[in-house]
Amino acid sequence: MGKVSISIYTFFKYSEHLGRKDFSESVLKDIRKGRNGYAGWKYKSWLKTSLDFINKRNTTNIKYPKIKNIDSECKKIINRELRKVKKFVNQDLFIYVFPINDDFIIRKMSGVSGMTINKDTIYLEIYPAKTWKKELANTTIHEITHLITGYHFNKPCLVGEALIHEGIAENFRESLLGGKEPFVEALSKEKAMKIFKEIKSLLNKRDTENIHNKIFFGTGKYPNWTGYSIGYYLVKRYLNKKFKSKNIDWNKLLREYPNQMLLEL
Ligand SMILES: [Zn+2]
Repeated sequence: MGKVSISIYTFFKYSEHLGRKDFSESVLKDIRKGRNGYAGWKYKSWLKTSLDFINKRNTTNIKYPKIKNIDSECKKIINRELRKVKKFVNQDLFIYVFPINDDFIIRKMSGVSGMTINKDTIYLEIYPAKTWKKELANTTIHEITHLITGYHFNKPCLVGEALIHEGIAENFRESLLGGKEPFVEALSKEKAMKIFKEIKSLLNKRDTENIHNKIFFGTGKYPNWTGYSIGYYLVKRYLNKKFKSKNIDWNKLLREYPNQMLLEL
């Protein structure tokens, strides 16, 4: 455990291609097939779809700022954060950092968004907004936590698991870096728990894209980020119950089955 290699690739030099037809093609030429496939995807065409998605979110007219040393600055921050959690990581990690020029990410997420692609690959998307460095640290820890817990990659994920999955990532991140992320504060604790009661019958249902988007991304009747808030408060409750929030055994907790946690709540 802990002896893992970490590869970080940055693609800021393609920021001026954002919003242009040649964005994905240009980046594609820069990514070779490796141990993690095509940047985490099995096929090159899937990677292309993923890059097209990043490019599609070029929703502002703001010119992407040129920041000297942004590549090395990013790597420095990511490596610094990874050192804090490396002892929990069992697999080699591949991290890809792309420029993004998305209005919502700039305004609501301090310019940084992240996602896990598979069990060893993370994408981070960055617009250097005012507090992007701090947010990069937060997002790095959040996403790495998903790779550490990992369970949702093995089988169809259930709605209840997805809630816990996000809740663990945010509570773990908070324990290391402090502060609260906007997607956690989207709902008050009371509101979050009220909606949790409403969606109880869904907990053992498969977390399909349709359901996930309704619970996590506001495409249905619940506000955007509802699932993140619910997950955060559920796991917080679990931590208070089990550890009185002190001396939390994260190594054990990060390996725990989310369904077991749900049962004990
Ligand atoms: Zn997450």
